[in-house]
Amino acid sequence: MTKDSSENLTKRIKNFAEERNWGQFHDPKNIALSLVLEATEVLELFQWTKDNQLQKGKEKELAEELADVYYWVLMLSDKYGIDINKSLDKKMLKNEKKYPVSKAKNSSKKYTEL
Ligand SMILES: [Mg+2]
Repeated sequence: MTKDSSENLTKRIKNFAEERNWGQFHDPKNIALSLVLEATEVLELFQWTKDNQLQKGKEKELAEELADVYYWVLMLSDKYGIDINKSLDKKMLKNEKKYPVSKAKNSSKKYTEL
């Protein structure tokens, strides 16, 4: 995803909320709460499966719930002036240092235990 597309999506979701005068409900706590609630809707699609896989035929629902999570990620990022793509890029640089391939390959251990 390019920086431009996340900026365009942010503008779109802000416009969507502004047209409905929903800004009054979008304080940071409610946005963070909504983000987590949507993440639990992702989790729900894996509930009760015996093979730990997505419930059969739920790929479309998964895409929608991931979009819901991303909606709130963009909204919260915007509230604090965070460029989410830049932030993820920085985080990946940290992760690459914390989990060097030489130590982390084939391991699910936390970096403090490698
Ligand atoms: Mg949802």
